[in-house]
Amino acid sequence: MFKQIQQFLSTVGLLSLPRPIDTPLWRDTLAQYLFLSELPIPEQQQLRQLASEFLGDKEFAGANGLLVTDAIAVSIAAQACLPVLHLGLDYYADFKGIVIHPGAMLARREAVDAAGVHHRYSQALAGEAMQGGPITLSWQDASPSSEKTAHGSNVVIHEFVHKIDMSDGSANGCPPLATRAAYTQWHQLMHTAYERFRGQLAISQRFGQPAPWLDAYGATSPAEFFAVTSEAYFVNRVQFVAEFADLALLFDAFYKPVKA
Ligand SMILES: [Zn+2]
Repeated sequence: MFKQIQQFLSTVGLLSLPRPIDTPLWRDTLAQYLFLSELPIPEQQQLRQLASEFLGDKEFAGANGLLVTDAIAVSIAAQACLPVLHLGLDYYADFKGIVIHPGAMLARREAVDAAGVHHRYSQALAGEAMQGGPITLSWQDASPSSEKTAHGSNVVIHEFVHKIDMSDGSANGCPPLATRAAYTQWHQLMHTAYERFRGQLAISQRFGQPAPWLDAYGATSPAEFFAVTSEAYFVNRVQFVAEFADLALLFDAFYKPVKA
């Protein structure tokens, strides 16, 4: 997979991007994402600075004929930098490449079922993050949509939170934390919320009831639960607090640490 993407990078070439981000482009970008335009002004300024550094550090490539415009690159940068606004870009230090496809990517998968039968199939992906490798995104899924925000979904934040999760070497749904007590608290609260969500989802599916608000993909593993709950935390805080009050406090402490 990584090899294939390196080929993309070499065939499409790399773009040089503006630094610092010019004001009209920045304003247009914020205006398209409600959760960015609602940030307090000092945080917007901080985000603009961080996004400029991000653009200077990362290498964008379009795949399958997509031209990565400045507007696309700034849009990705602004969303990607939101989770690390108070943490810094070190969490994204293990990769340079961001590959953007026009639409969903078809990934070839293999699995062995309970009967021992080997299956090969294709899966449509909106994005993918690999340990030590690039982030891949579908622009169709990453482009602005108020409907996705209302549902607490955001593929850019999702993939970049996987990078935060992986920054300690394992994608296990727990980012690097400062103390043993912080790990204990993280595991307890996340495990409880994860199991509760999986239970709600199972009941809704079994009895044909409305699905819980959070994206069902969060029920597939602790790593996906961390990514999916973080999307929701950043793009629709009001609903997230209503559904996951404990996690909102946990994420506040992680994403906005109080500086000593
Ligand atoms: Zn994921």
